[in-house]
Amino acid sequence: MSQHINVFEMAQSQLRATARHLDGLTPGLIDVLAMPMRQLTVNFPVVMDDGSVRVFQGYRVQHNSSRGPTKGGIRYHPEVDIFETSALAMWMTWKCAVANIPYGGAKGSIKLDPKQLSDRELERLTRRYATEINIILGERSDIPAPDVGTNPQTMAWIMDTISMQRGQTSLGVVTGKPIELGGSLGRVEATGRGVVVTAEEACKIMNMKLEGARVAVQGFGNVGSVAAKLIEDMGAKVIAVSDARGGIYRKDGLPIAKELYGRYAGRDGSLADYKDADQITNEDLFGLDCDILIPAALSASITKENAGKVKAKLVVEGANGPLTPDADAILEDKGILVCPDILANAGGVVVSYFEWVQDLQNFFWDEDEVNVKLEKLMRHSFGAVRSTMEQHKTNMRTAAMIIGVKRVAEATMVRGIFP
Ligand code: GLU
Repeated sequence: MSQHINVFEMAQSQLRATARHLDGLTPGLIDVLAMPMRQLTVNFPVVMDDGSVRVFQGYRVQHNSSRGPTKGGIRYHPEVDIFETSALAMWMTWKCAVANIPYGGAKGSIKLDPKQLSDRELERLTRRYATEINIILGERSDIPAPDVGTNPQTMAWIMDTISMQRGQTSLGVVTGKPIELGGSLGRVEATGRGVVVTAEEACKIMNMKLEGARVAVQGFGNVGSVAAKLIEDMGAKVIAVSDARGGIYRKDGLPIAKELYGRYAGRDGSLADYKDADQITNEDLFGLDCDILIPAALSASITKENAGKVKAKLVVEGANGPLTPDADAILEDKGILVCPDILANAGGVVVSYFEWVQDLQNFFWDEDEVNVKLEKLMRHSFGAVRSTMEQHKTNMRTAAMIIGVKRVAEATMVRGIFP
């Protein structure tokens, strides 16, 4: 898991591998891109329900703002640190550039297990954290959104905290908000929807039919649960899903929309409690005989230790950084097509962008408009990555990185280095 693997080094090694394909990327420019421009660490107190005071550590990292304000989620997880947060911020930069939306990358996090706190404690924690990092936030400078362990309610607290401090209601300071509060229709499903559109496009390359394809999904949070539901809706058979505590398997397909989505997505219960299927571990899930594997949990879940047993023909990265570079190489040797995170899971930030645009213009779109624009953008990005793959004769991750890094490098060069 991520604590044993330095994911920041992993992100830097992906950048250096990409740089080899790009003429004109000077060593100085690579150094600029290899480091986050700003890292803020905050230690802040929270009054717990029993009256005691606990100090939490949080971060906000902005990687690069050459193409626009920085953008990226906020993660609540016991194992986050400044390195992982920096890697996630760097991936956001490339992701926004591949999708060609006018943002740089950022990420925030607090080291905690949100399940151990009451709602009132979570609210106080979120409001204090938002206050601490507010010095670098703003709708024109850095815009947070949900990530692992946070949700629209968290974003509502952040929006309210910043608005109260400013003395004005500021919708555009954060995205992924509830619909009642300037959120966008379609945002909750956006990342999963983008993953499924990517899977559909990838199937075309592989002459594989999505209809009837056997799919395994690791992770049943916002991304995994929606991806499972939508891919089932498109005629695929979801044979296995898992969450942090374990997974379930049924050879002829699990009832995602009918039972599992409503019962387990975004709830406290675990899939392991579901009795009408075989119990499996997360590790078993990776080795299942299936057509499509969607890792949609945490970074570095597939490593050199378990990559060898993957039998899927196609891997679509719903999570950020689920494969280590070693695992990437093993899957490539096995002829497995990997659709990388910075392309496949961009749907979330794309609809965050739509939300921000709607907030800034105070004019809101209907859900159909959001979904049509999202799909069009995802298919367009996929097409660009596919042609770069052919042109540079590389795998899909390097192709996506080539596009992302090139766009950011060009923006940096044409702006020039200040002063
Ligand atoms: N946390 C999501 C991601 O990793 C969404 C970020 C956003 O919407 O700004 O892409």
